[in-house]
Amino acid sequence: MPTLRLSSTGTYYLLSALHGEGVLVVLSGFTKCPGLFYATPAQDGILSRIRIPGGILNSKQCRAIADIAQEYGGGYVDVTNRANLQIREIHQRINAEVLQRLQELGLGSSNATVDQIRNIMTSPTAGIDPQELVDTRPFVQAWDNYITANSQLSALSAKFSVCFDGGGMISVSDRINDIVFAAVLVDENLYFRLYVSVGAKGQPAKDTGILLSLENCLPALAALADVYLAHIDTNSKHKLRLREVVNSLGCENYLQQVQQRLTFALSASPQKKGFIERKTTNYCHIGVHPQRQPSLFYLGVVLPLGRLETMQILGLAELAEKYGSGTLRLTPWQNVLLTDIPQKWVADVQREISALGLDCSVSNINSALVACSGKKGCAASATDTKVDALTLAEYLKTRVSLDSPVNLHFSGCAKSCAQHSKSDITLLGVNVEQDNGMVEGYRVYLGVDDNEQKFGREYELVTVAKLPALIERMLLVYKTQRLNLEETFREFVNRYEITQLKQLCDRSL
Ligand code: SF4
Repeated sequence: MPTLRLSSTGTYYLLSALHGEGVLVVLSGFTKCPGLFYATPAQDGILSRIRIPGGILNSKQCRAIADIAQEYGGGYVDVTNRANLQIREIHQRINAEVLQRLQELGLGSSNATVDQIRNIMTSPTAGIDPQELVDTRPFVQAWDNYITANSQLSALSAKFSVCFDGGGMISVSDRINDIVFAAVLVDENLYFRLYVSVGAKGQPAKDTGILLSLENCLPALAALADVYLAHIDTNSKHKLRLREVVNSLGCENYLQQVQQRLTFALSASPQKKGFIERKTTNYCHIGVHPQRQPSLFYLGVVLPLGRLETMQILGLAELAEKYGSGTLRLTPWQNVLLTDIPQKWVADVQREISALGLDCSVSNINSALVACSGKKGCAASATDTKVDALTLAEYLKTRVSLDSPVNLHFSGCAKSCAQHSKSDITLLGVNVEQDNGMVEGYRVYLGVDDNEQKFGREYELVTVAKLPALIERMLLVYKTQRLNLEETFREFVNRYEITQLKQLCDRSL
């Protein structure tokens, strides 16, 4: 019987799985990017990532995932920053019938060879956002179908990432992706504006100025992928990223080659004139919000560090069935939305969410708290990021009451897997020299949105023990010294030099 097997070294594995129409597929070797059929060894056991295009799950799928996490994993799932789900701490064989059942439920691609390609990102409020210009769910589905049907795309880098932004309040267009289609209105006409990854690593995709009609979006995407494939070694295990290919070809040349594959002209409109720009705020999906559908609401539920215990997944799935449309939506901010809740049931749903040990409050420090796997899950980590983050949240719970989310990001090393975009406060794990030897600590970085400083401006090096009191002081100074209630933490710290901020914090002691 085909099974998932971990080798005796614990670092190499072989997976045999029944594929699609019953053909036996054997996938072997090491991949850095986990998938349902490409489980990856981690410090705490095998890691399996379930790709959820668009992040939308139905209640049956939730139950199947909860069963696997309970039976094979650590009894929990983690929502990732691409709105995938990860099951960790797998120490036993997952048999092929289980994998096949997941495929049948629509979890994992029906074509296992493309399953490890990065999840397709879109706003978690697609189709329900009162401000959106276009519902992007059909585009996500169409691109997923295209990948599945065209096996040559299995040669794409596993990190080849695509995002569709519908132009609503809950924007994902600033997330790190190789290709972004962002809906815009130009003189009352609706287009997708094309952004492509180019330049330095870790930067959001750059505006090409190209406007695509909605029907031309997917042919253009297929051509963008095709040109990329034409310039990489498709047999290599270390495939170039799209950014590297575009940098080497030059963006103009890359787009000319894309144009040669298309039957319509790629028309550029570099001027912003005529565009409707919207100010969007990360984390404003937390809490209770009206949908575009009259009398229906969605609830943004805070998941501490993106984690859901199996009984919480089951509980949320039940709530979705009982009060909503039977679906949960995962967000790239590692939270979850319960949608389509009639107004009269909102208070009941909130109560039942509390009974599950979760809540929908923006004042919850956990709403914008992010941590990478840390020491327990990753050998590269200098600190136990998750434990330190939860300790900080517990400390702040009774000491600081926030009225809008402040994004705190714990990273065990400079790779910054858990959050590629800038955070309000970044905490980078390091070892700190003390009189009594080395202890764990963090470099604290603050605010700033520019391309020079990956994490923002360095504020201080602090030991783990002293971190909670330092963050408490910063948040209290922000609350008492900000210009008005609308000023965000980032805007506040960006108004000051680091020395001035230190003075303000010292004075608050
Ligand atoms: S950021 Fe560094 S320590 Fe954290 S999971 Fe990634 S590689 Fe590991």
